[in-house]
Amino acid sequence: MSILIFADQAQGKIKKASFEAVQYGAKIAAQLGTTATALVLGPVDAAELAALGQYGAQNVLHAADARLHEVESTVYTKIIAEAAAQEDAKVIIFSHNFDGKAVAPRVAARLKAGLVAGAISYPDTSNGFVVKKSVFSGKAFANINITSDKKVIALLPNSFPLTPGTASATVTNFTPAISDADFKVKVVKVETVSGDIPLTEAEIIVSGGRGLKGPENWGILEDLAKALGAATASSRPVADAGWRPHHEHVGQTGLTVRPNLYVAIGISGAIQHLAGVNGSKVIVVINKDPEAPFFKAADYGIVGDAFEVVPKLTEAVKKYKL
Ligand code: FAD
Repeated sequence: MSILIFADQAQGKIKKASFEAVQYGAKIAAQLGTTATALVLGPVDAAELAALGQYGAQNVLHAADARLHEVESTVYTKIIAEAAAQEDAKVIIFSHNFDGKAVAPRVAARLKAGLVAGAISYPDTSNGFVVKKSVFSGKAFANINITSDKKVIALLPNSFPLTPGTASATVTNFTPAISDADFKVKVVKVETVSGDIPLTEAEIIVSGGRGLKGPENWGILEDLAKALGAATASSRPVADAGWRPHHEHVGQTGLTVRPNLYVAIGISGAIQHLAGVNGSKVIVVINKDPEAPFFKAADYGIVGDAFEVVPKLTEAVKKYKL
């Protein structure tokens, strides 16, 4: 019996959210007195595989098959189920990121396993196998007892800080029983649309709303983002108006982000916007209206005109090299 953790990669690099899942799975393995095995699909450097050991994986199964470079959820499901059977894994861990959302429920259905998607706690095994998740856009928590023999947990990204150690993992090649016929879709081209830093992986996000008045004013936001090494995001009306691309829109109908720092500029803080950002560790709000609802959710607030405040903030960040 072991814990299997799916560690997904993008462009050959293990994602930060996957390291979190591995660290989480390794702690559960220690809790249950078993071992943690990470599964990596697609070509990845040896150094990346070795890094999984630092987060607690004792073993790494690596299927280097080039056809697995991009996520194909049905094929991935088949392979993860095969690895789970090989390892006799009773608990299978994913990150609740894009790939995890696509693959974890399929794996759970295939293994007839109970699933907690978006977990934010370690399981409490004192009376069952109870995992906490946030529900209603972070407004409440649900404690879910997984009663099936096999269990699938998808960990909400940024729920626990990464604390790498110095241990190393044993890497074993894994050759899943797949053929070309298993691939029902093929990725023909990948285009990066959100700049250098994907929003869902970003540690810092600078986000703009209708208060910025028009797309021609986004330069001040981009300057601040560049100084902070941040990704850029927007409220929905901004994307609807075509000021910014839709893949930058965060909120109930857009992306859910959980950065360490979310800077909201000229955004009112409607409940639908907060639904996508209220998991951020620190929220800074810049708004000229002291009554803007966003201030209630903010850790720090600046009441002022964005066109005066933001350039000064950028200067300060550059000056003090924050
Ligand atoms: P506004 O509400 O117009 O707010 C602009 C803010 O800028 C104001 O607070 C104003 O005081 C401030 N401001 C103006 N000028 C300046 C200045 N010079 N300097 C500083 N501040 C200034 N919205 C989302 O964002 N994401 C979603 O996913 C989403 N999903 C939705 C789903 C549904 C079903 C519905 C009904 C709505 C959804 N919305 C969503 C829309 C949401 O209700 C709000 O309308 C929207 O978030 C408001 O965007 P905003 O804050 O940019 O604009």
